[in-house]
Amino acid sequence: MARKRRDFFDLRDGPPHTLSAAFRGSRNALSLVGLPSSAMKPAPFKYIAANSLEQALALKAQYGDEAKFLAGGQSLIPAMNFRLARPAILIDINGIEALCGVRTSEATTRVGPLTRYRTLQRDAAFAGLFPLIDEALPHIAHPQIRNRGTIGGNLSHADPASELPAIAVALRARFHVQSATRARSIEAADFFVSALTTDLEPDEMLTEIELPLQSPRTGSCFMEVARRRGDFAIVGVAAQMTLDDHDACRDIRLTFCGVGETPVDASPAASMLIGQPPTGNTFRDVAASVQTMIEPAGSVHATADYQRHIAGVLTERALRTAHQRAHDGR
Ligand SMILES: Cc1cc2nc3c(=O)[nH]c(=O)nc-3n(C[C@H](O)[C@H](O)[C@H](O)COP(=O)(O)OP(=O)(O)OC[C@H]3O[C@@H](n4cnc5c(N)ncnc54)[C@H](O)[C@@H]3O)c2cc1C
Repeated sequence: MARKRRDFFDLRDGPPHTLSAAFRGSRNALSLVGLPSSAMKPAPFKYIAANSLEQALALKAQYGDEAKFLAGGQSLIPAMNFRLARPAILIDINGIEALCGVRTSEATTRVGPLTRYRTLQRDAAFAGLFPLIDEALPHIAHPQIRNRGTIGGNLSHADPASELPAIAVALRARFHVQSATRARSIEAADFFVSALTTDLEPDEMLTEIELPLQSPRTGSCFMEVARRRGDFAIVGVAAQMTLDDHDACRDIRLTFCGVGETPVDASPAASMLIGQPPTGNTFRDVAASVQTMIEPAGSVHATADYQRHIAGVLTERALRTAHQRAHDGR
């Protein structure tokens, strides 16, 4: 017999959200009876599984900042478990098919926000179109987290040390957002306002990420230094270079994660490359210019001076690799 799907639990008043209530009637009941309602880790909340985009947006319009969309849950649920986030209502968007997948046309590729990292990693056509993203994905967390985490959740969470926001800025991505009553689009560079804060209004959802297709003779490189594999970056750099028919640099994008409150766009510091065939000396000049431009805050893992030093080293290496790839047509 098909199981009836329950899509609404009111979890704010303790039971049935306590572990004992959840297991009542099961064979494990005896060992769990008597657990207090405080056994739950997050603060009490109400859970609603949205069946459509319209329903999700209507709920967000109704509850505003009181409600959070639940995508992969890989940032939101840990934050709730530590009670750093205490949304009264969780709107689960995982059942909305329209928010998943990659659609490519002649000029752009559009990625649904609910597309999981793992889906992108397994999409060879996507990797071919956006090697910068493909190179960065394995640096994000661990396989279990990449199985659940989504591109939209990542960008909306706006962690300054996260790889994808810096890459979205490097790729000149455009974000489409919707509320129940309006739709608008925002340049990636304008989306990230400060640490963990975006330009999204309380009633809006990120509904599509639009990536312009890359010009011929474009090469890219993503590199980062982290304490351990899967950790957030101490410094990460995304470089993308386009050469003209005479091997001169026609376009250069250079962005960083981990060295500011938002992704840092250092492309102006690299604009000295434009109009000439790049050389090791000019890469060194760009690296020096980046080191004076960025203002890393330092952390328990790395001093600001160390971050600045690493940013310079990675800049030179990433530019050299992106140039080589543009030259070789990779
Ligand atoms: C141990 C560990 C290591 C990690 N390491 C890294 C790392 O190295 N690099 C990295 O980038 N990330 C890392 N992460 C975070 C991970 O990438 C998350 O998956 C990601 O930040 C959030 O995506 P999510 O789909 O899980 O979103 P959720 O956790 O579900 O949501 C995150 C936030 O975005 C909001 N949101 C979700 N979708 C939308 C939408 N479409 N529109 C508007 N708001 C939305 C939610 O309401 C919530 O506020 C790590 C996480 C863990 C637990």
